[in-house]
Amino acid sequence: MDYNLISNIKNCYVEIPSLLYYSHIPPAILILILGFFVLFQNRENKLAGKILFSISILFSLWVLLEGAIWLLYSSKTMSFLWSFLGLLYVLLHMLCLYFIYVFIEKKDISFKNKIILSSLLLPLIILTPTKYNIGKFDETNCQSIEGSYFIEYRYILGIFFLIWIISFLIYKYRKAQKDYRKQIALVGLGTILFLLVFSWSEIAGSITENFEITQYGLFGMPILVSFLAYLIVKFQAFNIKMFGAQALVVGLVILIGSQFFFVRNFTNQILTGITLVLAVVFGWALIRSIKIEVERKNQLQEMSNRLAQANDQLRKLDNAKSEFISIASHQLRTPLTAIKGFISLILEGSYGKINAEIKDVLNKVYLSNERLIELVEDLLNLSRIESGRMEYKFEKINLGEVCQEIYDTFVLRAKEKNLDLDLVLDKNLMMEAVTDRNKIREVISNLVDNGLKYTLKGGVKIKLTEIEEKIQIAIIDTGIGVPEEEIPYLFSKFSRGKDIFRLNAGGTGLGLHVGKKMIEALGGRIWVQSAGTNLGSTFFIEVPKERGEEN
Ligand code: ADP
Repeated sequence: MDYNLISNIKNCYVEIPSLLYYSHIPPAILILILGFFVLFQNRENKLAGKILFSISILFSLWVLLEGAIWLLYSSKTMSFLWSFLGLLYVLLHMLCLYFIYVFIEKKDISFKNKIILSSLLLPLIILTPTKYNIGKFDETNCQSIEGSYFIEYRYILGIFFLIWIISFLIYKYRKAQKDYRKQIALVGLGTILFLLVFSWSEIAGSITENFEITQYGLFGMPILVSFLAYLIVKFQAFNIKMFGAQALVVGLVILIGSQFFFVRNFTNQILTGITLVLAVVFGWALIRSIKIEVERKNQLQEMSNRLAQANDQLRKLDNAKSEFISIASHQLRTPLTAIKGFISLILEGSYGKINAEIKDVLNKVYLSNERLIELVEDLLNLSRIESGRMEYKFEKINLGEVCQEIYDTFVLRAKEKNLDLDLVLDKNLMMEAVTDRNKIREVISNLVDNGLKYTLKGGVKIKLTEIEEKIQIAIIDTGIGVPEEEIPYLFSKFSRGKDIFRLNAGGTGLGLHVGKKMIEALGGRIWVQSAGTNLGSTFFIEVPKERGEEN
């Protein structure tokens, strides 16, 4: 290395800046602790952790060299150490850019960018050991003289990297989602503040040739450390969960440990020693318990994530099933309606006279076909409800009339089964409500149908009453009843009671479910009461007389 050194250093009297220890040691310790901590605890963005660690090492190296320059009184070592500062300065800027990129993008920079960065750095590496970097030793001012091309190049590079960082941050901030923006802003602000404080104190030092100013630049590091610490605690950056507790314990141990430098008295030293051991033991226990807690929380989180995924999968399957039911039912409905039409025509004699035997068989076919049509209608209703395509037509109707129609439809069937069917309604009351006529008729019909289906002796009663602003329809039967444990599930999809199999009653377990959804959409409610098996059941429907706000 060609330094052209003058070692007549005795004439030089350099005053060591008063801030030297404060400006150098704490910032270096802080970033080293953070760097090591992130390197070992990082569970997410490993590369960003490594870059941060490299920043901490480079910064500490800078601190070491710069401190040594002040403290070591030799023009030779001074110039030698000084020669590395330029390179370190640019490297720190470059690593900050690299860190910001990897922290935000969570991936390495492209090969092309690596080439660009290396080629920018190359001239600096080549020039570092030459006289273009550190030339002569200035005896009068007792400092090394930096080559102006070198110095300009390094400051230009510094500014270039800073502009690159700022533009990248702005671009990413604008594109990011709202909750990620805060993290970008925090990491960006921390880094920019660090670089600004660090580099401007350098530039100012160089321009004024008052190198004491550069001491203040190092205080940029605690700023970056604070921003990163906040990111770790608040946003769990690097997926580190226990930073707060660990930082507290380490801080406490350092604080107590540093007491050793101040206490002179032996008893006090013993006491400090005991306190230190206690702090280490309890701190360790605290961190361990928090770690267990965090692990448990992680497991829970993982489980809930898996559950959410499974749930999602189930929902997709459910949608596919609804879709299938809807398509299949539509395809089934047309031929069933055609069969119904043709059987009716044959029964009416449109294709010639038929004998009683065939008529009997055809009647059975007709009834089975009717059951199929009902089933398809139930399935279609279910798929309409589940996909939100069910439409409701509200109009003022007389529920007394509706129930009378239902009664007329079912009275014959009841007689065939030797059951009574009664309709109880107070003629003085209007029984009018604003609701969907077809839907409510469908639901009441299903309840009466069920009543007759699940009753072997006695009968079914349809009873209408007005309760304040509502109309209540009760379908009371003396049938098989509903056991208490089945009541909560009765209105669920495809739910059928266990007793019905004794009766050999056909059905799908959809009627009550679809009915409940419809009544709720009409602003009413439906429920059942039963004293138990074989003690009959009463199904209630309540609908508002006027259309509510929510409908
Ligand atoms: P399905 O009648 O086709 O099985 P529903 O949804 O109409 O389907 O009824 C669901 C279940 O509720 C029935 O399987 C039966 O166990 C029970 N249930 C319905 N109505 C009555 C009733 N009136 N008496 C006793 N149990 C009933």
